[in-house]
Amino acid sequence: MILKGTVIWTPELGRVEVREGAYLVADGETVRGVFDELPADCVGQPVADYGDALVIPAFTDAHVHAPQFLNAGIGMDEELLPWLNHHTFPLEARFADPAFADRAYRAFLNALWEAGTLRFCAFATVHAEATWHLMRLAEDAGFSGLVGKVNMDRNAPDELREDTVASLAQTEMLAQRSREELRRIGFIATPRFVPACTPELMEGLGRLVETYQLPVQSHVDENRSEVALVRELHPDAPSYAHVYDAFGLMPARRTVLAHAIWLTGPEVDLLREKHVLVAHSPQSNANLTSGIMPLRRWLDAGIACAVASDVAGGSDVALSRHVACAVRTSKLRQVACAEERAASVPEALYLATKAPGGFAGFSQPSGSFEPGYRCDALVIGDERTAELDALLARTPLERLEHFIYTGDDRAIRARYAGGTLMPRPF
Ligand SMILES: [Zn+2]
Repeated sequence: MILKGTVIWTPELGRVEVREGAYLVADGETVRGVFDELPADCVGQPVADYGDALVIPAFTDAHVHAPQFLNAGIGMDEELLPWLNHHTFPLEARFADPAFADRAYRAFLNALWEAGTLRFCAFATVHAEATWHLMRLAEDAGFSGLVGKVNMDRNAPDELREDTVASLAQTEMLAQRSREELRRIGFIATPRFVPACTPELMEGLGRLVETYQLPVQSHVDENRSEVALVRELHPDAPSYAHVYDAFGLMPARRTVLAHAIWLTGPEVDLLREKHVLVAHSPQSNANLTSGIMPLRRWLDAGIACAVASDVAGGSDVALSRHVACAVRTSKLRQVACAEERAASVPEALYLATKAPGGFAGFSQPSGSFEPGYRCDALVIGDERTAELDALLARTPLERLEHFIYTGDDRAIRARYAGGTLMPRPF
């Protein structure tokens, strides 16, 4: 694959590379590099020339609930725990019906494709059959990522509360089956959150994580009422995050924890030592009245962070909107606390591309155009504004910022997954 355009990527937090009229070359699924002149062995090969359109890494959503896509923008006047009971759980119960799950998951994957999110860590529901179906659909459509069957055996409505032994058996079945039959979509252990999992379930999951070397995703320190509930359920644990660790559910470099707004000092140390990837979902945190995560403080403390949608806590699928929201909310933190310097647009873009794409739970990193990365790319060029952009002599970074703040799928001209043009899935 050879693409020509204005190639932009963020090799590290706060650093952005801009190469106009450059060639992005991939060997098979993997980036070879970005070149100003076509390498000798590529001369004569077909080049997809996108003129001055922007070529950026595709987005990776480190935390999204696939079934909840249907509830995006519903029930936003409630806080986390009542919202789960009134809106989320009744919807997730519908995924016991495979025909319903099929329709919903096809719509979800189409929406991700439209938004340019070609890799993700997704929660499914407790239902093994529907979870497997989502994994199969995503693999066949060309996405890469991780999908987990949710585990919950307490504090859940009857139709979602699992038998502990059956929950573990189905989890193990999916871990094995995905390893045998899928290449780009892996299985991730997914205890919903501490309030929904008994100690027996967490212990069993911890054993599966060890046996199969699984990655893990869950939630931590999202909403104050949730933190209080965890303290009530586990009064002897030093903190919320320490509960996961005690049950073997925080494997080093293979753990994604969403939210992390209310971390205590010992939790900050624990997450840094374990190289946990914190999925920062500022839009969800505002929608569910959870709080504003101190992004700069966690980054300065050495915690790995990524920007994530948390649909349907977050109401937009498009990560570009969450990148803008992460910048906005970091500014609100700066107003309240001067040493918490706001995040810049290139920093937040890094948090939605290379930071999550490089999560070690994936088999190959993506989200950058460095050699060895999986070549997932978007071509950004809004034909409706191209003429005015030229008259205004907009720089590439101005056009990128404009897309992040105001753009949508109409501005994404092409999507490449693993070096191949990716058609609309369904
Ligand atoms: Zn979530």
